[in-house]
Amino acid sequence: MQTFRYSQARSVEGAVRSSGTFLAGGTTLVDLMKLDVLQPNAVVDINPLPLAQVEALPGGGLRIGAMVRNSDLANHATVREQYAVLSEALLSGASPQLRNMATTGGNLLQKTRCYYYRDTNYACNKRQPGSGCSAIDGYNRIHAVLGGSADCVATHPSDMAVAMMALEATVHTQGAQGQRAIALDQFYLVPGMTPDKENVLLPGELITHVTLPALAAGTRSHYLKLRDRAQYEFALASAAVVVRVSGRRIERVRIALGGVGTKPWRSAEAERALEGRDATTENFRRAADAAMADAKPLRYNGFKIELAKRALVRTLETTTQTA
Ligand code: SF4
Repeated sequence: MQTFRYSQARSVEGAVRSSGTFLAGGTTLVDLMKLDVLQPNAVVDINPLPLAQVEALPGGGLRIGAMVRNSDLANHATVREQYAVLSEALLSGASPQLRNMATTGGNLLQKTRCYYYRDTNYACNKRQPGSGCSAIDGYNRIHAVLGGSADCVATHPSDMAVAMMALEATVHTQGAQGQRAIALDQFYLVPGMTPDKENVLLPGELITHVTLPALAAGTRSHYLKLRDRAQYEFALASAAVVVRVSGRRIERVRIALGGVGTKPWRSAEAERALEGRDATTENFRRAADAAMADAKPLRYNGFKIELAKRALVRTLETTTQTA
C-alpha cells in the first residue's frame, strides 16, 4: 500500500475544500488501497460529519443521510414498511459485518467486482485508462450484457442502487460550485471510451444525502436477487419493481435491473410495455423481452439474458399477486 496523508473532516464545507479521497465505511476504498488499485495521496475521513440521519420529509418521502449505515437503513421502520424493495436489496448485499460499516453514499459509489480491475497484473481501462480491457476476451461470466462498450463491460455491483433507481431517488451533493440535486437515473455514466469516469460527480463533490419520493397508497415493491450462493455474493441478475395495480390493471410501474448492466439499469422499455396493461404473466414476459432487447452477450455471460428476464417476471408476479 502506498503511504497517504490522513485527516478528519469537521464540516461538509471543510471536506469539500480538502481535495482528498473521502473515506466513509471503508468497505471498498480500504480493500482497493491494500491491492494498490487505488492510490490516493490524501484520505479525508468523513465519519465525523452529521450525515447519519434518516428523516421523514415534510411533504412525504424520506431523506437519507450519506453516512447512514446499510444495516440501519435496511432496518429503519419506515423503510421496511413503505420502501420494502430498498430494505430487501440492502439485506441481500454483502454480510452483516459489512452492512454495519457500509454507508449510503459509499454504496452508491462502490467499485466494480471485475476480477481484472482488482488485479494490477492485468490491463484494465477503468483502473488505467488506455491500457486495454482484459475482460472482453477473457473470462467474462460476471460481466455486463447491457451498456457495455469496446473499452469496458464491467457491471455495477450495488443492490441498493438498483432499488433506489426503481424508487426514483435523487442524489444531493455539495461541491465547490454549491449544492446539486441529481436524479439517480442521471447520476451514473455508461463506460463508452472513458470507463474510469463512472458518474457525474465533479472532483471534490460530496454526496450529502439521498431523497426518496413518497409512494402513492397501494404501491407495492420487491427486490429479487439471483446469485451463485445464497449469502455474501454479488448478483448475476436482479430485479427491483415498484408497482401500483388497480384491479388487474397496472397503473404505474418502475423497474430496474442489477447484475446485467454497466450501471444500475432502469428499464423504461419494460415500464412502457406494462403501464395501462393487465398484470398477466404473458405481459410480464413481453416486458422482460423489451428490457433485454438490446442485450449483447459476451462469450461466457449469455445466460444472464434469460436469467434477468426470469428475475423480472418473478418479481412482477410477486408484487402484483400481493396487490
Ligand atoms: Fe477493466 Fe472494465 Fe475491462 Fe473489467 S471490464 S477489465 S473493469 S475495463
